[in-house]
Order: sequence, then C-alpha cells, then structure tokens
Amino acid sequence: MTSSDTIQHQVEAMGYPGNWDVETLRKKWIEFLDSFMKESGTALPLKRVRYQMEQSITYQEIENRWARMEPSERLTAWKRLLESSEQVIREVLPTCVQCGECCRKSGPTLHREDLEILRQERIPWNRLLTLRLGEPVRSPMDDKLVFLQEERIKFREKEGTQECVFFDAITDQCTIYPDRPLQCRAQACWDANQSRELAGQPYLSRRDILNGVQVLLDMRDEHDRRCSFEQLQNAFKRLEESRGETVDEVLKLLAYEDHFRHFIAEQMNIPEDTLDLILGRSFVEMLPIFGFRVTEEPDGTKCLVADEK
Ligand code: SF4
Repeated sequence: MTSSDTIQHQVEAMGYPGNWDVETLRKKWIEFLDSFMKESGTALPLKRVRYQMEQSITYQEIENRWARMEPSERLTAWKRLLESSEQVIREVLPTCVQCGECCRKSGPTLHREDLEILRQERIPWNRLLTLRLGEPVRSPMDDKLVFLQEERIKFREKEGTQECVFFDAITDQCTIYPDRPLQCRAQACWDANQSRELAGQPYLSRRDILNGVQVLLDMRDEHDRRCSFEQLQNAFKRLEESRGETVDEVLKLLAYEDHFRHFIAEQMNIPEDTLDLILGRSFVEMLPIFGFRVTEEPDGTKCLVADEK
C-alpha cells in the first residue's frame, strides 16, 4: 500500500470531518498518530511526534482556522494534516522538542562534565543521590536487576514515580532546562546511537563532588567499608541458605547502617536529605529490591518480612 493509499484508507475509516469540532479533530488526529505509528513499527514515543507536529505551522494553522472552515475545506485540511503527520513520523526532526518522555523514565546519571553546574550551586545537593558499588539497580534497557560495578551520581526521582525531580509533569517542562546535565542534552529519542556514544564519557563520583572535604571523604570510606552492598548481599545469601535462621545477622546490619547514618548526620551537622548523596541510599530503603521490608512491633522489636509486592 502506498502512502497516499494509506492516508485515503484512514480518511475513509475515521469518518467525514465536516461536522467535527476542534476537540474531535484533536481526538481523531491522536487516534490516527497512534494507529499509524503502530503500523509503521517506529520506536518513537507518540508524544514526541505529537509535540513536533503541534509546533509545526501546518498543525497550528489548521487548528486555529478549523472552527471557521466550511465542511468541504475541513476535508482538505484533514487530509493535509494526516499527510504532514505521516511525513513527521518518517522524517522526525533530530532535535529535542521537550515532550518530556525521557524525563518521565528516570533522573539522569551525571558525568564529570556536569561538575560545573554543581560548583555554581545551581543544583542543590539534596536533589542528588549516590548509587554505590555493588548496589542492585534495574537496568533502564530491559528492567533486569544488575549490580553496579562502580558508583554513579544521579538526580533523584519523585517519590513513587520514575520521574526526574526537576520535571514539571503539569507543563511537561524541565525546570532547569538551560542547566540540564550532559545525559539530558545528549539523549536523543530519535537516534539511540547518540545516547550510546555517551558511554565513553567519565562518570561523576563522590570524590569529584566532595573534593577537598577530607572529613566527608573519610566518612564515605568508613561507611563503604562497614556497610557495603557486598556485606548485605552475603547476609541475604546466608539467610536463604539457613532458611531464615540467620535473620538476626541481617537485622543487625540494617540497624548498624541506620545508626551510622543518623550518628554522622547529628555529629557533623549534615542535613538528613543530603545523606543519600554522601553515604548513598540506606539499606532499609533498598530492602524491597531484595524482596523484604522491615516492620516494627508495638514493643519496638524490628522484624524482617517478605515483601508481598
Ligand atoms: S534534568 Fe530536566 S531534561 Fe533532564 S531528565 Fe530532569 S527534567 Fe528531564
């Protein structure tokens, strides 16, 4: 089927547009985009194409004039809109149109090049977190669990979502767009290769950020030595092998890590909300990824229970 056949087929399938109001026009157009993109097998997000089209002169002119058009004019305009949309799907612009799709999937990982925006204090420390060596994380590619081979610094995500903390979901806008990090500038939903090229760029680490603040670096080292993810993993392994007999070992490690964090925060006057950057995420917070959670009995006893989720 040629492209004009496809458009003709869609025009017939979606009905005569002469009596549609602007809202119906938009609804039908989004239905068309959805079905055409599925048929063409493109991996592009629907929103990406929609945003690009909405910013085009063709779309804006048709939408603005639609209410004043004669029914016969509407049919011509509708066909023009579909043809133009089809062209956008086939030849998507190699530029970010700020549709926000990437920002909804996760907060970016930072590279050494991003140190400057931190030095200029444009990004507060409480918006950052460290993923430590050996920490289990879900791969953004296939959602599989992987254990990090080296640490990463990331922007936080909003609680209960995967959205970047700097993403405004109402306006679909990045609230720090001029200062967005390298990964966000390089991310190209229209070309997977551009993002892959970033793999050669050095990642940012706590050593870069805490450079010169020896006391914080020492705390980081001490915490990594006493509360490593390797220790936590081994404790869970023994728990499994012993069929629950060694639960106290896990609880002790969790309590120790928790105590360490609060002790450091109090003694060194470190705001609690920056601990996730200096020491990484707490063991307790990471438990669901190991399939557990901690509950507290009325007498204060802590219990480790399997997480039903
Ligand atoms: S920093 Fe801005 S562009 Fe980058 S993921 Fe967050 S909201 Fe999106």
